Amino acid sequence: MVKKKKITEALDSARKDGRLELTEHESKQIISAWEIPTTETHLATDKPSAVEAARELKYPIVMKIASPAILHKSDAGGVRVGLSSEIEVRQAFDDIIEGAKEYNPDAEIWGVSIQRYIPRGREVIIGLSQDPTFGPTLMFGLGGIWVEVLEDVSFRLAPISSEDAMEMIHEIKGYPLLSGIRGDSPADIDTLVDILKKVGELAIEFDEISEIDLNPTFVFDEGEGAVAVDARIILEEPPERKKKK
Ligand code: ADP
Ligand code: MG
Repeated sequence: MVKKKKITEALDSARKDGRLELTEHESKQIISAWEIPTTETHLATDKPSAVEAARELKYPIVMKIASPAILHKSDAGGVRVGLSSEIEVRQAFDDIIEGAKEYNPDAEIWGVSIQRYIPRGREVIIGLSQDPTFGPTLMFGLGGIWVEVLEDVSFRLAPISSEDAMEMIHEIKGYPLLSGIRGDSPADIDTLVDILKKVGELAIEFDEISEIDLNPTFVFDEGEGAVAVDARIILEEPPERKKKK
């Protein structure tokens, strides 16, 4: 069930702090309330709660810096993937916090987010941004060099139908990597269609959202779903907003 109240609360809490850029933790709370598949995340403010959260989620787990000042977490040495024991969690907690302080001594640090390790699927990027003329625009591409070097992406204005979403996916040059080449099994394209539609609907329902980035989203074989392993939501400047309303 979609939980609009939860989304409003997360958006309001960022607004109250005067923040336009939401943390991964907040962004994932929002998309998960909108029924977009993502990792459950726990925010651990100290080492004992990090250990407890890891135990609850079951190993292996992933730990990431949780700071409203650090949006590109890897750049700050803030991502540890596939930790499988309490010793590793304790060590990673210290390393991540220390790395973040070094990276940005002024950064407010909330702690470390603990999430389940998702076995690597095929990587895609799903995004949304506000085009100044046309409004909410969805983006789809394969991860890594496909987007960064080859700019192999497709765009559509939101909202989109399932057929539109299917076209967006078919349009990219790297499509054969998803449909299955040389005996590879096809990826779960239906779930990607569903996520693309939902991302568009989320931005339309909550029009203070100016950007959504699910980078990367792991997609598994047909019938096995997809999971946004990273999420970032950015809000509009408020005065602009008020004028438009
Ligand atoms: P950044 O803020 O640097 O973009 P990400 O959250 O995207 O950080 O993490 C960096 C990389 O770590 C991702 O591209 C992905 O390959 C891997 N990763 C992140 N979260 C998970 C997870 N929960 N399970 C498995 N791998 C993950
Ligand atoms: Mg990322």
